Amino acid sequence: MAETELEKPSAAGTDASSPRLDFIRELIEEHNRIGRFGQRVHTRFPPEPNGYLHLGHAKSICLNFGLALEYGGKANMRFDDTNPVKEEQEYVDNILADVRWLGFDWEDRLFYASDYFDQLYQWAIQLIKMGKAYVDDLTADQIREYRGTLTQPGKDSPFRNRSVEENLALFEQMKNGDFPDGSRVLRARIDMASPNINLRDPVLYRILHAEHHRTGDKWCIYPMYDWAHGQSDSLEGITHSICTLEFEDHRPLYEWFIDTLGIHKPQQIEFARLNLTRTVMSKRKLIKLVQDNYVRGWDDPRMPTISGARRRGYPPAAIREFVSATGVAKSNGTVEYAMLEYYIRQDLNKTSPRVMAVIKPLKVVITNYPEGQVEEFDAVNNPEDPSAGTRKVPFSKVLYIEQDDFMENPPNKFFRLAPGREVRLRYAYFIKCENVVKDADGNVTEVHCTYDPTTRGGDAPDGRKVKATIHWVSAAHAVQSEVRLYESLYTVENPNDLPEGKEFTDFINPNSLQVVSNAQVEPSLKTAQAGQRFQFERLGYYCVDPDTTTSQLVFNRTVTLKDEWAKVQKNG
Ligand code: ATP
Ligand code: MG
Repeated sequence: MAETELEKPSAAGTDASSPRLDFIRELIEEHNRIGRFGQRVHTRFPPEPNGYLHLGHAKSICLNFGLALEYGGKANMRFDDTNPVKEEQEYVDNILADVRWLGFDWEDRLFYASDYFDQLYQWAIQLIKMGKAYVDDLTADQIREYRGTLTQPGKDSPFRNRSVEENLALFEQMKNGDFPDGSRVLRARIDMASPNINLRDPVLYRILHAEHHRTGDKWCIYPMYDWAHGQSDSLEGITHSICTLEFEDHRPLYEWFIDTLGIHKPQQIEFARLNLTRTVMSKRKLIKLVQDNYVRGWDDPRMPTISGARRRGYPPAAIREFVSATGVAKSNGTVEYAMLEYYIRQDLNKTSPRVMAVIKPLKVVITNYPEGQVEEFDAVNNPEDPSAGTRKVPFSKVLYIEQDDFMENPPNKFFRLAPGREVRLRYAYFIKCENVVKDADGNVTEVHCTYDPTTRGGDAPDGRKVKATIHWVSAAHAVQSEVRLYESLYTVENPNDLPEGKEFTDFINPNSLQVVSNAQVEPSLKTAQAGQRFQFERLGYYCVDPDTTTSQLVFNRTVTLKDEWAKVQKNG
């Protein structure tokens, strides 16, 4: 599927006409002006391989890779693989596939924090020798207790003043596996009274006798995120280390490590994470949705994951456009899901071929149309794109139309098919409903119509008008298909902000997936391939699901045609 996505993001994430730069670009331009990094811009995207990427990550990816493109710089792909217990190769592989699908290329710069475990170990020894790190025997609970609070200073561990020799010997023993998990840690020796809790002797290493997905059983001590991250940035020559706001208080620590070691110092810059209404994005919660079978997997089209978005039919360019439109901010906020859908529609409107498909079929018999006759009509593939051409659509005596396009007893404002009413069949003829056939329960099972042969192509020579044009498929030529209709996974606008004692899983929408097994689609779709996107005329955008086989087409509804974002903006 990814192979169809050859279009590359342009360097212009911001358009040249916009006079104001965001604060990140302002800072980069300032650095370029004063020559802080010799005009270099080098960013990185640093996921932890402990889950699949989501739309929030897409924002970080587009920002990091986008800035590199804009400023003629580079962006690295780097896994922050410092916690062997939660990390897996499956996640690594899927993260890489997702970044590539979004349209970005790290060239030969794929790195892992674990590439630097030896160097980090050497630097830890250097800190010990400088008297700036020590082995602590306090338990995790004691360390927490000694750390103090926002209003109270911490207090020194009784092990804080060990000699350099003792620390070196103990640290080596830690590395050699002489101690059980959790029995000791290596800590930086900074300031237990610092107003910034991150500087109160943070832990650098913990003992974990766990197999790592890359280094195997080489290590039984693992660096903490803070210790690994900045030094990895430094080693890679990163200039701008962009992260989310919760790391703002970590910046003094980030800089303390680098200054103390006297190595290349990148600029850490924090921005607000992307939050979406109707969406939960924390990996911990997404894992729960998958493990407890609330969804069919990480790439379930209801998931906010990049793989879910791909399967749902969201084009990567639309995700990039959306993310760019949300901008970068210094304070957290939540973006309307409808805004994302707006960008999806904008893209699909330009790019997706139109086809006729009937999701909930109602049989129409054209009583005066010759039995066995078949005509073909030329249908426009994409009115937005003349180069997309036309295709032939067969027409015959028995058709399917949408159940919603017929009413036996219509209210005033209903202009579609009804007894005695005439409508236009898209590309074909006017038809008039003469009578209906019902089953024993009184449900309409067939609508009998007559057609006017003089209206071929869609206009009446006598100038009479019809108020509606409806879509249809020829029953004899239709391909029966499965269509999966999606709604929000939650019944509340903000599943992240819930009443006391409630969990997000208490608000799962039982109707988030509706499977229609007898949709009828036009025959040109017979050979559609997984990942192809279409507009089903008058209904919405649909994408071929990878569950499709040679004998069964399966479609996902990507998004309906209705634009709720316009409404939100008008009312807002
Ligand atoms: P989560 O909180 O969803 O588990 P995370 O921050 O733990 O995500 P990482 O794998 O550490 O996930 O994230 C990789 C990068 O993506 C980090 O730089 C992180 O700041 C960024 N990122 C994660 N979530 C978002 C988001 N919602 N918006 C923007 N950037 C994000
Ligand atoms: Mg994280």
